[in-house]
Amino acid sequence: MRYDTIIHGGTVIDPANGRHGRFDVALTRDRVAAVEPDLSHADAHQRIDAGGLLVLPGLVDLHTHVYHGVTYWGIEPDAIAARSGVTTWVDVGSAGAYNFVGLREYVMRRTDSRVVTFLNISAVGLTAPFGEHYNLDNCDVDICCAVVAQHRDIIVGIKARIEEKTVGTNGLEPLRRARVVADRTGLPLMVHIGSGPPALDEVLTYLNAGDILTHCYTGGTMRITHGDGTPHPSIIAAAKRGVILDVGHGAGSFDFAVAEGMLAAGVLPDAISTDMHQLSVHGPMFDMPTCMSKFMAIGVSLDDVVAAATQRPAQILNLRDVGTLSVGAYADVALMRQLTGTFHFYDIAMASRTGTSLLRCERTILNGRTMQRRPDPEPAPWIQKRPYQQHIIDQGHTPDQMAQGCC
Ligand SMILES: [Zn+2]
Repeated sequence: MRYDTIIHGGTVIDPANGRHGRFDVALTRDRVAAVEPDLSHADAHQRIDAGGLLVLPGLVDLHTHVYHGVTYWGIEPDAIAARSGVTTWVDVGSAGAYNFVGLREYVMRRTDSRVVTFLNISAVGLTAPFGEHYNLDNCDVDICCAVVAQHRDIIVGIKARIEEKTVGTNGLEPLRRARVVADRTGLPLMVHIGSGPPALDEVLTYLNAGDILTHCYTGGTMRITHGDGTPHPSIIAAAKRGVILDVGHGAGSFDFAVAEGMLAAGVLPDAISTDMHQLSVHGPMFDMPTCMSKFMAIGVSLDDVVAAATQRPAQILNLRDVGTLSVGAYADVALMRQLTGTFHFYDIAMASRTGTSLLRCERTILNGRTMQRRPDPEPAPWIQKRPYQQHIIDQGHTPDQMAQGCC
């Protein structure tokens, strides 16, 4: 038996199989071929020394925007995948019914990373930064259902952004229609919250077990904790009935105090996701390993952050053969270094927390092949770095700067 690749000597963390320890991982073609304590005598075309590294399943990012060239937020994923370990990108609602085929034909066909999608209830998707539900003519239930039926292989959910900037004076009506599409198609509904109206409690009444609340730690008026950090009873009830809490950090949607309030109440995020887009990539979000490190800084264990970035999102969306190093799964692997030191992390209001671990991706393997490092894509002309983003750079607190200054 000759394997294509053996990843040797690393610490495997594979929550789907309850593994955390020293294992060798063998890959053949695009699949995981073996995971054993010692494969040093096995034959392989290529050996990768993973001594001192964490060997994780390729990360599954539950909230991203990859529809570049057509939408305000969309970003090319492959360069970021190669440096961050994300091999499965869930594009949530960049495309609506009118422009969904373009996402499939013009973006996904040219992208190496694995991409699955949520269809926006608004047929124009996220072409512009906000306002997609101002005109309810764009929220057509029948057209949405028809597009889902045509692209069922890559549409895994329905998306609606519900806050004042997106619904205008239309209140809950776009959400009501998204609920109908989700029910008719049997797909999960992902709802984005921020600053209302509507109010959080009204929105939560539309969410059932398996539906996803994203930007769950927003500091906006729809925030899920009171000023003293205690959770709203409605969010605890929602979590109890099986509503999924997804981070979706983004450029405006992560408040340390809200996350800490929920952790203090014993509620962990189901999924740690980036809301990677044209603006958030410039920080303080930066990338998936940085988001995972932030949760470690506020007390979540390494095993729990890995589960929330791999096995859990795959399970939530019923994605087979990703987010795990099971034999037979796709050969998607993230090799990470856990740096130790003193690291400063920021939320979007520039509140900071200090952590002792910084995760950095050293190599991303997709379908059995190492992804080539390349510079990040240039920002779109309408993207200007914000003052808070420049501030982090000036402080020397970008992940690159912190990694260089450490160890
Ligand atoms: Zn988003």
